[in-house]
Formats: sequence, C-alpha cells, structure tokens
Amino acid sequence: MIIAIDGPAASGKGTLGKRLAHHYGYRHLDTGVIYRAVAYAMMAMGADLNDEVLAVAAALELDPEKFGNPILKTQQVGEGASVVSAFPKVREVLVNFQRQFAADPPGAVLDGRDIGTVICPDADVKIFVVADPRVRARRRTLEARARGEVADEEAVLADILKRDERDKNRAVAPLRPAPDAHTLDNSNLDIEAGVRAAIAIVEQARAKR
Ligand code: C5P
Repeated sequence: MIIAIDGPAASGKGTLGKRLAHHYGYRHLDTGVIYRAVAYAMMAMGADLNDEVLAVAAALELDPEKFGNPILKTQQVGEGASVVSAFPKVREVLVNFQRQFAADPPGAVLDGRDIGTVICPDADVKIFVVADPRVRARRRTLEARARGEVADEEAVLADILKRDERDKNRAVAPLRPAPDAHTLDNSNLDIEAGVRAAIAIVEQARAKR
C-alpha cells in the first residue's frame, strides 16, 4: 500500500508520515528533505539558488546518505528548497527516485507537496494536511528554538506565507489537493490526535477497497 501525505502542513518535520509508516510497518520518505538537500548542496558551494543548471546538477548528484544532516531542517534551507523545487527539470530528475521508493515492498508513506497529484497519482490513500498558518508558525518557531536556533514567530509566519504562495503558484506540480484526497486539518490537534485522525482515514479507505 502507498500512502501519500501532501499539503502545506504535511511535514511537521515528517512526524505524521513517520508515525503512520511506523504504525503500518512501512518505509517513510519525507520528500521535502530531497529538495532541501539540493538547495543545501548549492548553498554550501556558494551558488546562486536561481541557477537552474547548477540546481539540476545538484539534483543528479543527490546522496540519500546525507538526508540526516540537521542543517537541512533550518528555515533558511527550507526557503532555498522552495526556490529550487520550482524548476521543472529539478523535479523531473527526482521523480524516479521517489517512485522507486514508493514501489519497493512492503509499502510506503511519502509526504510532500505533489505525491498524490504527480509522484503517486495511484496511491491507495491520499491525505492533504492543512493547518492555520498562525498555528504552523507557532509550531515551527518552537521546533527551531528546540534546535537552538533564534526564531521570531512573525518572521516565521511571513516565511510560511511566502513559501505557500510560491508552492501553490508554480507552473509545475503546484501545491494542491488531488481530487480524491482526504483533507485533515490539524490546527487544533496535537501530534497524537493528528496521527489518530490519519489512521482513521487510512482504515476507512482500506475498508472500502
Ligand atoms: O516540507 P518541507 O518544508 O521540508 O519542504 C520544503 C520545500 O520543498 C517546500 O516549501 C516545497 O517548495 C518543496 N517541496 C516540493 N515538493 C515536495 C516536497 C517539498 O516542492 N514533494
């Protein structure tokens, strides 16, 4: 079974997808990390993030062994990811890696922005996670502070709104729910309740199969 988790609030730094994968004994891929890794590779060599040729080269040299680097989680790298992920050729290079991950047994949970629409349009269950931007800003600020970063909630909110706009309005794989996605609003849910709600959606979909 393939479970696609998309939406502006899909990541929560992979927590929901990770927990869901653990619950079902599936593998998990937080696809945001892929775009963050491409952006960071460019930032590390001092490249201009708007340079499409270099971004494609970085995507072709992607090394999954580096996905665990904590620097990938920072706001700055996330902002860079949103820039490089708008390049159609960068996305194209990364499609096969994601589809292969999804296809390998025993099943997988992938979270991102375009899993249910582009990467795995035939996913068995699609969940589109949304949350009030203010709530997301609060959560991201607390996460950043927990990592020891200095974070100003208003600046984080501005960054979230800017990034959502860019993700929604790009020409390729824009952020939008697949027609058959189930929306999950976790504004008022803590992690545990969010995981329970997602499991309920998966179970309901499985019962119908
Ligand atoms: O989810 P996360 O914050 O790690 O994603 C960082 C950025 O990577 C997003 O703002 C988005 O621009 C891009 N992304 C994407 N497609 C995905 C996952 C992330 O374009 N499947």
